[in-house]
Amino acid sequence: MTASPPHFSPRVLAVANQKGGVGKTTTAINLGTALAAVGEQVLIIDLDPQGNASTGLGIPRTAQMRSTYHVLIGEARLHHVIVESGIPRLDCAPSSMDLLGAEIELSDFDRKTFRLADAISVLSRETGLRYDYILLDCPPSLNLLTINAFCAADAVFVPLQCEFFALEGLSQLLKTVERVRVNLNPRLVIQGVVLTMYDRRNSLSEQVAEDVRSVLGDKVYETVIPRNVRVSEAPSHGKPVLLYDNNCIGSQAYIRLASEMIRRERNLRVA
Ligand code: ADP
Ligand code: MG
Repeated sequence: MTASPPHFSPRVLAVANQKGGVGKTTTAINLGTALAAVGEQVLIIDLDPQGNASTGLGIPRTAQMRSTYHVLIGEARLHHVIVESGIPRLDCAPSSMDLLGAEIELSDFDRKTFRLADAISVLSRETGLRYDYILLDCPPSLNLLTINAFCAADAVFVPLQCEFFALEGLSQLLKTVERVRVNLNPRLVIQGVVLTMYDRRNSLSEQVAEDVRSVLGDKVYETVIPRNVRVSEAPSHGKPVLLYDNNCIGSQAYIRLASEMIRRERNLRVA
């Protein structure tokens, strides 16, 4: 019998959708927390100038702090900006408003689409930090920051809000992923799609879910994240909803999402 080799390369997932307000950050924080709760080492990298992943984890943002911006422009190593979230096994590389200018600043850099990929490979190679999952919280745009995430990622995880135009924006996202796969990062695939803010009382939610499943098949997670006020209250307390109210339906859904992800990841490794 051969022991399976120690797997130290992290699984890097870009949590992306160019639409704002669809649940990317909420999913990065709460999926990350749920994965950490079952023993996975997790790093959330905040790539949105808004920094909601950082503040939602209770990490204060100060003008002097070093952030993912400094990593991208080469002024800091990734491990120098990583902070502990206070939640066991969950760390965060926070963002800062400077990221707003990164797109223009990076345009003159070598390997401008691979700045994050290079930083992550240095982290894995040269430090003792071992993460099972690295979740990249992307900004609401298909800009150079998101392209950096796609070049650094093994796969894209897409939160999709159950609303009328959900599928329309998705085709643009899928096209971009395909373009990056062909030109920049051949291993990039869609890991999965999770329906967010599902409202059981609204027949539109159900209709959208059906449409999305008929187009994307088993890429769509069985787990659906319901609209739940506790989920939206948690960030103002600087906590994942799993810590704010562990029993609410939103927390329960994110726990199920993490188990489904682990199950799917295991199946991918076996296949
Ligand atoms: P994005 O990162 O895609 O812009 P967010 O995760 O910040 O989206 O979510 C947008 C808003 O919707 C936030 O105010 C968040 O608290 C709220 N929200 C996200 N998911 C849920 C949910 N399942 N139920 C209720 N509110 C939610
Ligand atoms: Mg966000």
